[in-house]
This record gives sequence, structure tokens and C-alpha cells, in this order.
Amino acid sequence: MEVQILGAHLAEVKGARLTSLLIDGILALDAGGLTSALSLPEQKQIETVLLTHHHFDHTRDLVTLAANAGYYWRKQLTVYALRYTLDIVSGCLLGGKIYTNFFEYPSKEKPTLVLEAIEPYGRKAVVGYDVLAVPVKHSVPAIGYQITSSDGKSLFYTGDTTAGISDCWQHVSPQLLITEVAGPDKYEDWLKKAGHLCPRLLREELIQFRRLKGYLPRVIVIHIGNPYEQEIKEEVAQVAQELGADISLGYEDMKITL
Ligand SMILES: [Zn+2]
Ligand SMILES: [Zn+2]
Repeated sequence: MEVQILGAHLAEVKGARLTSLLIDGILALDAGGLTSALSLPEQKQIETVLLTHHHFDHTRDLVTLAANAGYYWRKQLTVYALRYTLDIVSGCLLGGKIYTNFFEYPSKEKPTLVLEAIEPYGRKAVVGYDVLAVPVKHSVPAIGYQITSSDGKSLFYTGDTTAGISDCWQHVSPQLLITEVAGPDKYEDWLKKAGHLCPRLLREELIQFRRLKGYLPRVIVIHIGNPYEQEIKEEVAQVAQELGADISLGYEDMKITL
């Protein structure tokens, strides 16, 4: 399984994209920085997008990806998410309000986008992967995904989350954990209120993981608050040292092979 970090940041600026991951070139997780990261032939390979929640920094490239798929290669894309998330993105972004109605283009019979609701704790076979949706704590309804390939490689991507992510640990056993740290420890209270993690909160959740599972997976941190990147990096390195764990910051175009 090859995992590409397409976007690892909280703000889009030159050299930094919004949250998106791509597995083996075909399965996208969140859509904050898909089209700005990939060439047309690479975009054409994407068959499915899994959304963790509806926030714009995770969904906006559904519009540009659907436009390219609909206009240039007429390929159908399937988007999986909670019903709640699908209702918001279809109403606000994709259903014709601000751009093309991708549920009727090029035709109602063969639209560019097909939506599939996934239930909390639901398990689905998606383009050859076993996909498990696990609810996570955030400021809006959100799910993380454990993706397992046919040869048994697995990752758990939390999406945006905050203290209490350890409630998920009993449901997953990944080799790789991709999670978020939106800001440094000095903003812990604010981050918690906004539904995010700082390095200190992540540390507590990882201690719970090890207590429950007896190991710690490799951890990659994304959704990095750009102005605080150096501070976050230092605090995450401290957590990694204390726990004797492999925890590092993700970056744009990073590739991880499992
Ligand atoms: Zn969010
Ligand atoms: Zn976000």
C-alpha cells in the first residue's frame, strides 16, 4: 500500500495544501488538496473519495475534481461519507448552487458523482479495500477510516479530531496512524474547544493506545497550523522521545509504503 500525503496543512499558501491523502493512486481520503496536487492523468485514476466530515478544508476539491472528471474524461466518482456530511456537501457545493450540478451532469442517468452513505462503525468493500468508519470527536459529526488492503496492510486516518480519540482505539489496529495537530500546546484550551489536537493532547491519546493495544503504530501528523509548524514540530519530537515512538510531521507529496 502506498500512501501519499497530498495536503498536510490547515491553511493553503504557496507550497502548502489543505488536507488530502491518496492511497495507491485510486482512493482519496478527504479532498482539501486533490486537484492542485495531481496531474490530469493522476486525477483520472481516482475512483473514490472518502470524506471524514463536511468542513470546507476537507471537501472543496470535490468541485474541481468532479469538474475535471465530468468535462474531460466522463468518469463516475463515488463519494462516501456520513449521511449528514453528504447532505451538506451535496446541498452547498455539488448540487448546482455554486457551480455545475454534478448529480445531473452530463446526464441524470449517468452523473459525474454518486454518493454513498456510510454508517458509523460500518464496514464496506471499496475499490478492493476493507474500509471501516469509526466516529471521532470533532466540532461537527465526523468519522475516521481504517483502510486495510487485501494483503493486510492497514492505516487509520482520524481526520480532524480532539481529546477522546482514544474511544476509537478498541475498534482499530493500524500499522500507520495519520492524525492531526492543528496548533501548539500553548493553545490547548482553544484547540480543544474547536475540536482539534495539540501535541500534549495527542500524547495522552497515544498513551491510551499503547495501554489498550500493547504497541504504538507509526504516527504521522497532518492538518498542521502553518504559522506554528516549527513549534509543533519541536513539541511532537518531544512526545516521540518521551513515548519512544515514531511520530513525525507529514508534508506535501510525502510517500509512505506499507
Ligand atoms: Zn474540521
Ligand atoms: Zn480541518
